[in-house]
Amino acid sequence: MHRIYDVIIIGAGPAGCAAARALARSGFYVGLFDKAIFPRDKTCGDALIPDAHHALKKLGLMERVAEISCRAQGMRLICFNGNTVLIRADSACVARIKLDELLLNSTVETGVEFLQGHEFARVVEEDEKTYRVEFDSGGRIVSARAHWVLLATGANAAPIDRAGLLLRAECKSFAVRQYVRNERLAKDIKELVFVFDQTVKGGYGWIFPGPDAIFNIGIGFFGAAHRHNNPRRNYEKFVAKVPLARDLMHGGEILSPLKGAPLRTGLSGTRFANGGLLGIGECIGATFPLSGEGIGKALETGMLAAEAITKNHQNDQSRAAVAQAYTRGINALQPKYEVYRKAEFLFNWPYLTNKLVARANKSENTRSKLEGLFNETSDPAFLLTVSGWMKILFSNR
Ligand SMILES: Cc1cc2nc3c(=O)[nH]c(=O)nc-3n(C[C@H](O)[C@H](O)[C@H](O)COP(=O)(O)OP(=O)(O)OC[C@H]3O[C@@H](n4cnc5c(N)ncnc54)[C@H](O)[C@@H]3O)c2cc1C
Repeated sequence: MHRIYDVIIIGAGPAGCAAARALARSGFYVGLFDKAIFPRDKTCGDALIPDAHHALKKLGLMERVAEISCRAQGMRLICFNGNTVLIRADSACVARIKLDELLLNSTVETGVEFLQGHEFARVVEEDEKTYRVEFDSGGRIVSARAHWVLLATGANAAPIDRAGLLLRAECKSFAVRQYVRNERLAKDIKELVFVFDQTVKGGYGWIFPGPDAIFNIGIGFFGAAHRHNNPRRNYEKFVAKVPLARDLMHGGEILSPLKGAPLRTGLSGTRFANGGLLGIGECIGATFPLSGEGIGKALETGMLAAEAITKNHQNDQSRAAVAQAYTRGINALQPKYEVYRKAEFLFNWPYLTNKLVARANKSENTRSKLEGLFNETSDPAFLLTVSGWMKILFSNR
């Protein structure tokens, strides 16, 4: 294989597909490579929160995704003490095997060349304008050339290291999930349910209703918590103790084994760009701390990289200009990630989390601040300030 693409994208998940689609629509000749044979599954909670809705609209794909997903009526937080609050927000659930197939098909429709079964081996800078990327395809090394390379390989450290973007190998979070069909509960549960409970202290559990009465149920640990826990054992405790989870499992049909995967969160541990090679999606830690949601931000960072290339590729110093524009775009997201990362303390402070949910039920003001956090429409910093917590704990409004 000796083709020269404008852009080679490695990894055909949400980040890679978003970038490929956006670039191809702007007239670039794009090669999209993945080690897997599609349709392939990706261990995930399958929830589409507001940022994913926003990104899918921008990509012109929201209507097609709506057809295959189960729309939720918002997000319900269930607190340590059993109290609940409903957050109004665009939300839905669709199995990743279906979502990623749709994203890939809609990307190939734009003229992108897709090569599956190609595992990224290494990238070599041949000169100021060209990279050679080598892949292992069924035990044979094949190479392709391009002016730009986007790495979109997800949380696994090895390819990020091989591309020269890795600063720290460790992933900060870990989560497990399972599929369970329950026709009876599907009539009652219409929201994405997030559960805070002692069995998942340091993280949270979820119960997300998907199409065909199939629920995605799982738990995730964030920050240092995953190092001190055994997710499989905690999951067993979670489904044995939490009433809704117990109910789901009791009357349900288990459709899959429990599967786990690491999450690379907080936009930390990697460089975002190295010359004409940019990292997008979870490989640069674009998954949110606190929530572990990353589909929306994978799509968004893919589009940011596409925009940086589209606007700057004709510049005399185009590599530097693209890297700078892209890094600026990512840095603009940083403050939000910082708040989310710091707010992970809530997982370990049941008293405060209970108070927050109780307050949100009493006060429209607090509820809309919480909604602003999930909808990304307001500054989430109120969760980190003394005055913010004084209002949550003591205000009568
Ligand atoms: C248990 C769990 C639950 C989660 N729940 C949610 C949720 O409910 N909602 C949400 O928004 N996010 C969730 N996330 C996070 C979400 O899965 C990621 O943020 C998202 O998949 C990142 O997309 P991506 O395109 O960057 O990477 P990925 O989706 O991981 O795609 C990477 C692609 O690269 C390919 N690849 C990997 N290595 C190579 C290689 N060497 N060569 C070639 N190709 C390669 C892979 O085959 C894959 O297709 C969850 C994560 C976990 C682990």
